[in-house]
Amino acid sequence: YVSKVVILGVFLADAAFRAERLPRLGETLHGSGFALGPGGKGSNQAVAAARAGAKTHFITRLGTDNFGDMAVDLWRRAGVEPVIERHAEHPTGAAFIFIEAHSGNNAIIISPGVAETISVADIEAQQALISGADVFVTQFEQPLPPARRALEIAREGKALTILNPAPATDISNDLLALCDIVTPNETEAELLTGVKVVSIADAQQAAMALVARGAGAAIITLGEKGALYNNGAESVHVSAVNAGAAVDTTGAGDAFNGALAAALARKWPAERALRYASAAAAISVTRHGTAPAMASDAEINALLERQ
Ligand code: ATP
Repeated sequence: YVSKVVILGVFLADAAFRAERLPRLGETLHGSGFALGPGGKGSNQAVAAARAGAKTHFITRLGTDNFGDMAVDLWRRAGVEPVIERHAEHPTGAAFIFIEAHSGNNAIIISPGVAETISVADIEAQQALISGADVFVTQFEQPLPPARRALEIAREGKALTILNPAPATDISNDLLALCDIVTPNETEAELLTGVKVVSIADAQQAAMALVARGAGAAIITLGEKGALYNNGAESVHVSAVNAGAAVDTTGAGDAFNGALAAALARKWPAERALRYASAAAAISVTRHGTAPAMASDAEINALLERQ
């Protein structure tokens, strides 16, 4: 039996420009660097789940352009099975990422392109795939109605449902009630609960608030402070893992969510799944990029054995 993960989300071509400052309107500046790479939370999470050994299907829409080809190539190399429609009338999504050269701070414009047209009908066409998954995962980069419908279908089937509520948006209680696990970071947890999450005790309070509002469980990711799980009855805190010097923490959350999905698809208990996801995220921060930084199952296990 191969455990099966189904992810709904967005692929973006991340175009990162480095310069001393943002240009003013009407101005052209000479930058000091450029990188083009695969991004989009859903796509990153699908790559992380597939690298972690789960049979992973990714539902999205792509354009018929070069960025769409880049996505297909990424998924082929990572072993992700795309469930996609390619449309000529809209472009594949892209992100403009400005990086301030001296500080490393960024400013980002996301344009999901054709992924903005993902519809409820797209989801209903994949009813059998979604309801037959062990774990279903989605985020908020594509429209909400298809995400909601997919969570409902996953629930009607046998799938465990995970919602990564990113980018930060408030969620209604009835949507939370469709989630077996909701996985906000500190900022998203604060937006959802009003609890300012600085300490592990704050995370505990925020997680309990999410469970009180209808989620089956919450996992709050706390960066270098690790991750906290609470389902109302049981609480587990797992420390961040040291896998070497951090060089790029972008995509740590995606690495965590993808590996978590792979672990839970194997029916592992919460603590084991959290340790596995933390190790996967720890490896990803020691590497540049997002999707290319995702760890394999063998790498994750080797790190856990060294602990
Ligand atoms: P991003 O938006 O950068 O992708 P995020 O804010 O969604 O990240 P974080 O809470 O920062 O997510 O990180 C997710 C998980 O990654 C953490 O729970 C932790 O396990 C791991 N992690 C993050 N930063 C580090 C680090 N510097 N060293 C080791 N592990 C880390």
